[in-house]
Amino acid sequence: MDSVLIRYHEIALKKGNRAYFTEMLKRNILASVKDLGAKEIRSLHARLLLTFKNEIDPAIIIKRMSSVFGIANFSLVRRAERDMEELRGQILAGLNGASFASFRIDTQRGDKNFPLNSVEINRQLGAAVQEKSGARVDLNNPEFTVFVEVLPKDAFFGFNKLPGPGGLPVGASGRLLSLISGGFDSPVAAYRMMQRGCRVNFVHFHSAPYQDKTSQDKVHELVKHLTRHQFQSRLYLVPFGEIQRQIVAAVARPLRVVLYRRMMLRIAEKIARKEKAKALITGESVGQVASQTLDNMTVIQQAVQIPILRPLVGMDKQEIVDQARRIDTFDISSVPDQDCCQLFVPKHPATKARFDDVVADEAKLDVNELIRYGMENASIEEFIFPEVRVASEDAKSQLA
Ligand code: ATP
Ligand code: MG
Repeated sequence: MDSVLIRYHEIALKKGNRAYFTEMLKRNILASVKDLGAKEIRSLHARLLLTFKNEIDPAIIIKRMSSVFGIANFSLVRRAERDMEELRGQILAGLNGASFASFRIDTQRGDKNFPLNSVEINRQLGAAVQEKSGARVDLNNPEFTVFVEVLPKDAFFGFNKLPGPGGLPVGASGRLLSLISGGFDSPVAAYRMMQRGCRVNFVHFHSAPYQDKTSQDKVHELVKHLTRHQFQSRLYLVPFGEIQRQIVAAVARPLRVVLYRRMMLRIAEKIARKEKAKALITGESVGQVASQTLDNMTVIQQAVQIPILRPLVGMDKQEIVDQARRIDTFDISSVPDQDCCQLFVPKHPATKARFDDVVADEAKLDVNELIRYGMENASIEEFIFPEVRVASEDAKSQLA
């Protein structure tokens, strides 16, 4: 295939911002195929037409288009001359033995100077397809659709629609910082906010050297995977074991998890300010574990000023896991690991933390010093998708 016809939902894009959203969508689509040699992307009415310089494996195009938020659906199409004979010949050849009981031709005529109007084009091509396939025409609920675009310089045709991921183009809704753990929930939470057009960076707290590196490796894989939706991500890895050790030394068991979480949020808030992120994202959902009772969530959130978004707050574990499967994070999250919050925690953590008790316990710690320690010892990983390799010839010429 050498082209893709991409459709977006105009109503999903707010009126005044439509041009801005469309530009962002175009930019993101081009970024998603940076390594495939795109020729150009043209704006048609409520559609975009992406063309490549060469033939591309359809499976690769489908995978890429399925990850660009803002695409409602798309069709793989092929370029043809603006000539009815040629168009008819290419469409019949392209059917390639496809079997269907009913069909329709859907022509958009972007060039009003073309001698036939769209109804006439539909009729002529429809007659040919009907003769070849024996299928009947059904304009309302066809099993098979032939899309035709007649443009000023060329024409395009393709068959059927494939679903896009919907949502809004990443970048249209501002930046966020996701607290990501390696579990099932936080990657799904980050995905849902990207789908709403947010650009997401990530922070992970790990307990190395007290625990092994599995959670860091999982988070690395998760962020790498999610980067295919936003083409660029940054991950902060914050060593948390020492901070936990100091909390353990100063604080009685029941409130430890609440204090861990409050420290995580404080450090995340600092990073968010640095990254110009407007809010944090967590994968919390009410009642899922002891730290996620409404009482505890309230006391935890009071450690920071920055808003906390919890896209999964009202979701059932099964719904979250189902979505993790759909977005392909399930397998990575399934790998057993040692979560840092399991380190030094009691079997029965407090489920109704009281704000005054938490503040009294925290007074035994040098909170600012712990934040400083976390920030200073954080490491940063950058992710890019697709990874464009410089061809060896180019590399040689650059070195020469
Ligand atoms: P998840 O499946 O995302 O790990 P969970 O059900 O295990 O969530 P918790 O362990 O209570 O729930 O964590 C709640 C949220 O806190 C997580 O979704 C994540 O946003 C954040 N979080 C927990 N542990 C970490 C960590 N080590 N690093 C960064 N964020 C974390
Ligand atoms: Mg977890």
